[in-house]
Amino acid sequence: AMNKDFVLAVEGLTVSFDGFKAVNDLSFYVDENEIRVIIGPNGAGKTTVLDLICGRTKATTGSIRFKDRELTKMKEHEIVRAGVGRKFQNPSIYEDLTVFENLEISYPKGRSVPGALTFRRDAAVKERVQEIAETIFLADQLDQRAEYLSHGQKQWLEIGMLLIQDPELLMLDEPVAGMSVSERKKTAELLNTIIKNRSVIVIEHDMKFVEDIAHKVTVLHQGKILSEGSMAKVQADPKVIEVYLGH
Ligand code: ADP
Repeated sequence: AMNKDFVLAVEGLTVSFDGFKAVNDLSFYVDENEIRVIIGPNGAGKTTVLDLICGRTKATTGSIRFKDRELTKMKEHEIVRAGVGRKFQNPSIYEDLTVFENLEISYPKGRSVPGALTFRRDAAVKERVQEIAETIFLADQLDQRAEYLSHGQKQWLEIGMLLIQDPELLMLDEPVAGMSVSERKKTAELLNTIIKNRSVIVIEHDMKFVEDIAHKVTVLHQGKILSEGSMAKVQADPKVIEVYLGH
């Protein structure tokens, strides 16, 4: 029983792979404009949780409510259309296209534009691409082929390709892996900018970055919540130190 409207309400979520419960009776709630970070040792079930939310893996039992939609009953593409974006660890950008083209092809096809005239649509798309390019620090690189971007810039471009679809929930799997210190700082800045219109769930191992972005941290262990709360709270939790941070 909840008297609050969460963007995402995960309740009693379980998935078994041949009897092994990778996610085991998990419940957690994400607010509007919240950056939630999921941490935990390898094999804790972090990736599986994101796979369940985006519909790539089907739950054995439990529910995932996104606004007023029950995601466990929906197909992967329907979940995308409902406003859930997911970035995997390896960027899936088009290396031989420019930054502009990568963003342009990611603009939702079915989205209506005032007037519906082709030139108006083109202008609206162009404006939106420009806006996104500024957010992801690539406004000066619009004509650059994606293959010439740095590793960090490629990660930002992929985030931009998701942002142009305007997801209300954006899920990112280790977004700063392999980034330089300055790229990591700019990624924190980027997340703090885009959170104004959405909620974000991040899987992350880099504790410095977690400290910079997390509104709330969920620590997973063996498919269950080991600890949850502010970074300061979970960092000081003896259970967390024992199974994760102490290593
Ligand atoms: P994490 O992301 O926290 O490292 P995962 O979610 O990748 O953990 O994995 C959790 C557990 O579930 C691991 O023991 C993994 O081997 C297992 N697992 C994940 N996906 C599958 C699958 N499709 N089939 C069988 N076992 C899986």
